[in-house]
Amino acid sequence: MTGHGLENREKETMSTPTEITPTYELDDATRSYGEDSTLVTALDALTLTIKRGEFVAIFGPSGSGKTTLLQLLGALDRPSGGSIHFEGQPLELLGDSALAELRLRALGFVFQQFNLIPTLTAAENVETALAPLGMSRLERKDAAEKSLEAVGLAPRARHLPTQLSGGEQQRVAIARALARSPRVVLADEPTGNPDTRNGEMVMELLARLHIELEITLVLVTHDEWIAERADRVLRLADGRLAEDSAVSVAERLAR
Ligand code: ADP
Ligand code: MG
Repeated sequence: MTGHGLENREKETMSTPTEITPTYELDDATRSYGEDSTLVTALDALTLTIKRGEFVAIFGPSGSGKTTLLQLLGALDRPSGGSIHFEGQPLELLGDSALAELRLRALGFVFQQFNLIPTLTAAENVETALAPLGMSRLERKDAAEKSLEAVGLAPRARHLPTQLSGGEQQRVAIARALARSPRVVLADEPTGNPDTRNGEMVMELLARLHIELEITLVLVTHDEWIAERADRVLRLADGRLAEDSAVSVAERLAR
């Protein structure tokens, strides 16, 4: 019967080993600013792969190139040299509007500064992020509610940012990033704000969401205890990859 045939076809497809396309592939990605005497090579020929569903910490001192790397991964900036593939697609071939669409549909951002709109409630801040997606008002409300619930802030939905603690504001910012169901969350020092006293809680939350929602999480930090929570640590020094914990583990096993 037709149903049976379909079943067989599905089985065949499933038994074929398929390589999952990595989320990111960087090949000699370089980013320099300025020219001649003011030239700064913020990222120097980075080659690495980030797999789907990985939790990667980008670790290193101030000025080592962490934010520069995150901006390239977030398609907020373009490399001066080399190439970056996102889910198999070379970003250098995409125009500005295609990159904007990618940021909107696939990527979520969390920054050290929460960037909440002070005159809007927690729920409205999350809903605003959904405005470009063409959802109805009701769908937006529903998605915002679910997202605030996921970060444990449903009871604070009607509060203004000034009525929330730093940690709670960062959780609203995380809910805002999650509301669009991104495949990747990029976080730049999310626990680094002096107002975020409860950095541990923000960290726990991101780590839990990464697992529950199967999100690829790339987190920039200069705190060792935060980097230790990640599956993998990329240590940057002067714009170069000084250490990749995934590679060192593999090397250790090979010995
Ligand atoms: P981190 O986030 O690790 O502190 P950044 O990626 O912000 O490091 O910066 C890396 C290097 O690039 C630093 O030396 C910084 O001064 C330089 N840099 C960053 N952004 C710019 C810019 N827009 N123009 C010139 N230099 C920059
Ligand atoms: Mg930085």
